[in-house]
Amino acid sequence: MIAEKMKNMVANSSAIRAMFEEGNRLAQIYGAENVFDFSLGNPNVPAPEAVKQAMIEILNEEDPVALHGYTNSNAGYADVRQAVADSLNERFETAFSGNNIVMTVGAAGGLNVALKILLNPGDEVIAFAPYFGEYRSYTANFDGVLVEVSPNTENFQPKLDEFEQKITAKTKAVIVNTPNNPTGVVYSEETIQKLAAIMETKQKEFGTDIYLISDEPYRELAYDGVEVPYLTKYYNNTIVGYSYSKSLSLPGERIGYLVIPDEVADSEDLISAASVATRILGFVNAPTLQQKVVKKCLNEKTDISYYDRNRETLYNGLSELGFECIKPEGAFYLFVKSPMADEKAFCQAAKKYNILIVPGSSFACPGYVRIAYCVSHETIVNSLPKFKELAKEYF
Ligand code: PLP
Repeated sequence: MIAEKMKNMVANSSAIRAMFEEGNRLAQIYGAENVFDFSLGNPNVPAPEAVKQAMIEILNEEDPVALHGYTNSNAGYADVRQAVADSLNERFETAFSGNNIVMTVGAAGGLNVALKILLNPGDEVIAFAPYFGEYRSYTANFDGVLVEVSPNTENFQPKLDEFEQKITAKTKAVIVNTPNNPTGVVYSEETIQKLAAIMETKQKEFGTDIYLISDEPYRELAYDGVEVPYLTKYYNNTIVGYSYSKSLSLPGERIGYLVIPDEVADSEDLISAASVATRILGFVNAPTLQQKVVKKCLNEKTDISYYDRNRETLYNGLSELGFECIKPEGAFYLFVKSPMADEKAFCQAAKKYNILIVPGSSFACPGYVRIAYCVSHETIVNSLPKFKELAKEYF
């Protein structure tokens, strides 16, 4: 008999898994080129050539026993942590040392480590809808309670009035994700300043520490030169969770890091705890080869123009057909208003045209659907006539 707590998690994750299997089934019947699978956030731009070269060099040059061994510190290689800190300091005028960096198994691993070291049972974690649905499971992993701020469908910036009201003495953490999955919205500097001011006031009011967790796998995926504020500069109790999954197209390699700055309350304890959490959650340490790869590739970038082209074509194409959506400023998702209230039924209707998209209720925002445009440009172009047929059912 599986654990009670797992039952809900299994039930909730089955929707996206079912979609994935449906994609495979349709591809077998109609051919992969006739299936428009926009369901997954799996980058389809190859990792930069430098990543491959780095792997080859490391494999050729390093002692294989040490390379494939456990790391001395569960937080990661000291030189890698230092190099990450130096690179952040250069880019964001911060003052981190290697000690502030904990290498993680992607952003997912980092978020689980962060929540593991922060949450006591019953502690509350606030997230702004729409949010990455896994936050609910990650919070539940440590017996926390996820508190949702309802979506601001005007512009998908967080609803700060509601946020203020939802902070309680039990609020331990607030998760923000900008550029955002699923909306593609980048939280403005003004939003961040206001959010930080609210959190400062509430910390004083309750005499507590409220940690801001910045989940930023999409930091590098911002279009038209839009600035993505670096949150440690606005609020002292900020922990950053970064990932190379999207920025270097390495999602399967599972590599990222946490930044726990000195300014964070109890930072030394948190940093030591993060190292222990990495071990006892079963990660032990972030993958050693990938730690060394990212050190060599700190200045590498994915080909963002590829996603940008998809963004323009899809956004313009769908808008012309009558669909409503905010033009994304980052990430590789379009969050489109469902033309019928029941967006799950709309996703089913789209499937008739071999279009696979994810219901907004997976992100705590029913009435919308997410279209992941990290697919080939051809898929986007070829899907538009199908979207046109779909649109005819509604407009
Ligand atoms: N956070 C958000 C908002 C994401 O969209 C994802 C993956 O899609 C993750 C975290 C997990 O990323 P990683 O592959 O780095 O674990």
